[in-house]
Amino acid sequence: MDWTVIDAHAPPPPPQTVPPLRQDLELIATAPDNNGARRWLIYDPLQHKFVAIGQSAHALLQVWSDGKAIEQLVENAWEQHAETIEPEDVTRFVQYLQSSRLTLDAPSGGWRTLSASADNSRPSFASHLLHTYLFFRIPLMQPERFLRATLFAVRPFGTRTFAVVTTLIGAAGFYLVSREWDEFRATFAGVATLEGAAFLGCALMLVKLLHELGHAYVATALGCRVPILGVAFILGTPLLYCDVTDTWRLKSPWARLRVDIAGIFADLTVACLATFLWAFLPPGIAKHFMFSLATAGWVLSLTMNLNPFMKFDGYHIASDILGIENMQDRAVAIGRWRMREILFALNSTPPERMSPRLMTGLAIYAWALWTYRLVVFTGIALVVYHFFFKLAGLVLFTVEIGYFLIAPMMREFLEWWKMRQKILSSSRSLATLAALVLVVALLALPLSTNVRMPTVLTAPQLTTLYTPVPARVAKIHVGYGDKVAAGAALVSLVSNDLAQEMELNRLKSEVVALRLDRGTGDSDDRSETIVLANKEAALRQQADGLIRQRDELNISAPFAGVVAEMLPALHVDRTLSPREAIVVLRGGRGGAAHGALDEGDLWRLKAGVEAVFVPNDTSLPHVNMMIRSISQSAMATITPPELAASHGGRIADRQDARRQPIPIAAQYAVTASTYGDLPDVYQSRSTVGVIIAVGAPESVLSSAWRQVLKVLVRESGL
Ligand SMILES: [Zn+2]
Repeated sequence: MDWTVIDAHAPPPPPQTVPPLRQDLELIATAPDNNGARRWLIYDPLQHKFVAIGQSAHALLQVWSDGKAIEQLVENAWEQHAETIEPEDVTRFVQYLQSSRLTLDAPSGGWRTLSASADNSRPSFASHLLHTYLFFRIPLMQPERFLRATLFAVRPFGTRTFAVVTTLIGAAGFYLVSREWDEFRATFAGVATLEGAAFLGCALMLVKLLHELGHAYVATALGCRVPILGVAFILGTPLLYCDVTDTWRLKSPWARLRVDIAGIFADLTVACLATFLWAFLPPGIAKHFMFSLATAGWVLSLTMNLNPFMKFDGYHIASDILGIENMQDRAVAIGRWRMREILFALNSTPPERMSPRLMTGLAIYAWALWTYRLVVFTGIALVVYHFFFKLAGLVLFTVEIGYFLIAPMMREFLEWWKMRQKILSSSRSLATLAALVLVVALLALPLSTNVRMPTVLTAPQLTTLYTPVPARVAKIHVGYGDKVAAGAALVSLVSNDLAQEMELNRLKSEVVALRLDRGTGDSDDRSETIVLANKEAALRQQADGLIRQRDELNISAPFAGVVAEMLPALHVDRTLSPREAIVVLRGGRGGAAHGALDEGDLWRLKAGVEAVFVPNDTSLPHVNMMIRSISQSAMATITPPELAASHGGRIADRQDARRQPIPIAAQYAVTASTYGDLPDVYQSRSTVGVIIAVGAPESVLSSAWRQVLKVLVRESGL
């Protein structure tokens, strides 16, 4: 048989006679499939849907008449069309037609058929709601007349010349952007602003509109109907779509491919032109918009339309080139079959016959699709969970994961359950089970005793002392390595300039004082009394400043410590500039580390255990430390702030109104200290890294489970 029915459900009792077909169905001959076999399409105008069938199904339809017994049908097909068809195949075909709603009768055959068709097209209210959230469409307009009327104007864009010119412009644009790459990247950072996001939003809409028009115009040019242009909501995201299902009528696969490619062609054209214009425009709004257009064009075409895992154009192009309709479903069926064969070696018949290479390719495609979905839907779920308010986020999270990941897995396990006898009797199943047990055991064994926490290692208190003004050394009180008390004199300096200024100030003050004394007798001076008084005050202020400067020349220790460094060749009478470091004073040689411990690991860690500091900079040495203290209450803000993600650290945070990093998950402050002296490379700075401490052992599974529980507890508001 060369039609495909993929039905996970057990067959209902077989019908004895064939049901009447709907009268409005249309049978259209179409391009042969990838093996060169002839094919037809059943067009359902009500659902505007096409179903591909092969030669034997076509033969059955030719001899079909209502109420005819199945045996009779098989006989007629053989007599009139030389097709050998088994009665079971007819039964499957009838069931397929019924589930596709192509027959007039209600599907007979009990709850299984009903539930199977409910899966496909008659959703329950909850399932309807779910589908509506995941995907629904709003038709906006019937663009056919507009498209036909304006087709002549867009014809030049479909020519080979235009494609070549666009490619050249795109290449030139790339070259120009590569020369201004830094500026281009800087603009990219601007996307995060409100204005940038608005620009990108507009650009995305424009590119998507051109994309859909691309499909629509090429379909129109090939004589197909484009009944609807509308908006589809996928996971709540509005996207324009146009209905080009009519291109199924096209007999040449190349013609359909042209309609498929037209959208991506439009994206890439916009991207090429915008990239090129970006390089030429002067800075301003136009340039920024070109940037948005280029980004939108590249992003839309590369991540969505050329992505074979999403059912956008790339997928349809791939399926058209391979000549496999319904590629995803068929690949998934093959992928499931191949997986069971690998796991259990059941020797079951494949869902359909194809060349081994194509089978392998489709199986790999299906597995890649599962991996892709796992990653993407988990990602989407996390985004939804972060952006919606708590309860809705959790519900949507469950819905997404449940619908896209758990439900398909459950269906597969159900299938395994049904074939349990076969699975259990295969020796491969035993090997698979053994491997599974081994993996679970490895995951469940509490092997890891490491507790990791992001940490900043700080050197002891350290300060470098300078002279405030150029000065001469008068006396040196200490030597390298000396221990000094807080406030102890280290080096005394004198400044000749300062001494002269002080002398000058003293003389000026004397003169002013003298004239003020005389003022009572001299009438000229009397009028100047106020001026002189001001002058005297200014001179006194200057004198105070000079005295303060002189005191600062006596360099003293701001805290108790050790003289770690002294200026080489420091001697009495040497003149020093304010740029020369005279003395480096250090409070001690040990180091302290301040880390943040995740609440989930709190129970595993005790004070007094050994730990090792591993710096982010791998060229630096590890430092052995001891955990000194673990705080009893969670931190209000992440300290030290270098640990927060917003400051380049590892702990997820959000910023409050005062731009303080607030931890998203509870963190506990941990301090650790070195046993002895810090290595010299750490002596003069703080270093970011992690502390790995010896904690209570935990298995990978239990740590994952705690993570899940933590989220559940937090999100349920307990
Ligand atoms: Zn498209």
